[in-house]
Amino acid sequence: MKLVFWGTRGSLPMNTPNHRLFGGNTSCIGVHASDSLVIFDAGSGLIHLGSELAQTGRKEVDICFSHFHSDHICGLPFFKPLFDADMTVRLHSFGDNETSLHDALDSYLSRPIFPIGLNDFTADVQFIHHAEGESVDFGDLHISSLPIPHPGGAHALKATAHDKNFVYATDTEHTKDAPNQELIGFMQAVDLAVYDCTYDDSEFEERHGWGHSTWQEGVRLAQAAGVAQFGIFHHEPERSDEMLLDIETRAKQMLPNSFVTRDFMQIEI
Ligand SMILES: [Zn+2]
Ligand SMILES: [Zn+2]
Repeated sequence: MKLVFWGTRGSLPMNTPNHRLFGGNTSCIGVHASDSLVIFDAGSGLIHLGSELAQTGRKEVDICFSHFHSDHICGLPFFKPLFDADMTVRLHSFGDNETSLHDALDSYLSRPIFPIGLNDFTADVQFIHHAEGESVDFGDLHISSLPIPHPGGAHALKATAHDKNFVYATDTEHTKDAPNQELIGFMQAVDLAVYDCTYDDSEFEERHGWGHSTWQEGVRLAQAAGVAQFGIFHHEPERSDEMLLDIETRAKQMLPNSFVTRDFMQIEI
């Protein structure tokens, strides 16, 4: 399985001289296994994946959404395959959410928020909802989901192929001193897990209720689940390269196989 990180920033795309190393695009990961491809989330990183896809000749693509907050859907209207009449783009949502994916995108892509709407896409766009607990296969890739605490609802996603497992767990808020046992079970012994590491433990109390977690909680969950590699993901927008390098150093002291994910990183598991 190959993972391509097109966007690793949380909440808001960023671009300053202090965001060069880790990048500033919001959540988007290409999950590849043989010829199969599934995209996790449509943050601003999706625009780059779309440009690459437009050159491959692929005519069908599947995007799985963790949830529908703006930083996870803002790349969608800039995704070139949506403007190709020969393309089929399937948009997948999972489990119970406050709003359906269709209704969330329809209200985001409407005036006065946005100039074009869902009807302006020329591709065959299909909305596919999977009931809570239902898994789905895309060629060699098997995708399952787990609800995680987040305002409006969110789901962690797991990709399995060729006996390798990748867990994508963002966005979620933890409860102090009460590790999410369901998530630990979902992450159990996977080859790679990435997690919502928006904050540091020292910042967590004053951001209570904002829906996000800390890199230290991510490391604790990864240790409890015995994951082979742990990726720090969904960086707070104003985290500079220097701050993220410091977090990476401290995370490695707790868990040597941890690292900070960065835009355009590719990992084979
Ligand atoms: Zn987010
Ligand atoms: Zn969110």
